[in-house]
Amino acid sequence: MAKSVTDQVRNGTPVDGVDVIGALSPSRAGDFKTCPLMYRYRTIDRLPEPPSPDAVRGTVVHKVLEDLFDLPAADRTPDQAESMIEAAWSHVLEDDERASGLFDEDQGHERDAWLASCRSVLRKYFDLEDPTALEPAERELYIETLLDSKLLLRGFVDRIDVAPNGAIRVVDYKSGRSPGESFEAKALFQMRFYALVIWKTRGVIPAMLRLIYLGNGELVSYAPDEQDLRSTERQLEALWVAIQRAHETGDWRPRKSPLCSWCSFQEFCPEFGGTLLPLPVQEPSEVVDLDLGE
Ligand code: SF4
Repeated sequence: MAKSVTDQVRNGTPVDGVDVIGALSPSRAGDFKTCPLMYRYRTIDRLPEPPSPDAVRGTVVHKVLEDLFDLPAADRTPDQAESMIEAAWSHVLEDDERASGLFDEDQGHERDAWLASCRSVLRKYFDLEDPTALEPAERELYIETLLDSKLLLRGFVDRIDVAPNGAIRVVDYKSGRSPGESFEAKALFQMRFYALVIWKTRGVIPAMLRLIYLGNGELVSYAPDEQDLRSTERQLEALWVAIQRAHETGDWRPRKSPLCSWCSFQEFCPEFGGTLLPLPVQEPSEVVDLDLGE
């Protein structure tokens, strides 16, 4: 008989040969903090979400910025970056066929406007950094660490720079505009999450966490300390306890906020007059993959 999600979480889930109680990425941790029901629909029900032009632009721009550093330093120019957009777009289409539904054939002008917005976002990058003077140590790096509680933390870091003195800078590109204070707290929580994993795995606290907002050309930099990261670890442990409790009780409560405007699940959300979907019955194999979301 299939075990319930609750049993699986309680008994531990084998990941890479180690029994873990569960796994969290910054995105899924952020989802639960934002709204438990959104977390449930995304992580447990795995409801499909149509890709948005903004999200796909972010993926394309990330791909260009990742590939740009494969080139010799002198070639990392704005024109070169723009010339890489089409290839990055093709790569995204190969990777996620849903993206091909973004623009119908008769919407060529919309596609052109969207590509122009990709170019404009990339231009902003060159106002903020000079990639000819940078040699990143890592790009699109997968990181993970197991906390003492056996909670696995994992995620992908856009870029890591290491100075000659060993100081680490963690860089994350955001293709949108810099947010208001409450939204910025969410982005910084994600950065502290990465800093915690790097500290645990490398024994060094990153000297700088840097968010690059390409939508409006703004840098947000933050220097974490040990107290910050210990507090982040405690917050993540508490978050996992709250997630376990929701699994046990089935109480995935909606939490209305300005972020609801970006939520794909309003039609299934009581806060918006929608009907709550029944909880899915899961097979154990589905639970192993409890939180791979990025
Ligand atoms: S619409 Fe808002 S309250 Fe409802 S599930 Fe989405 S984020 Fe949660």
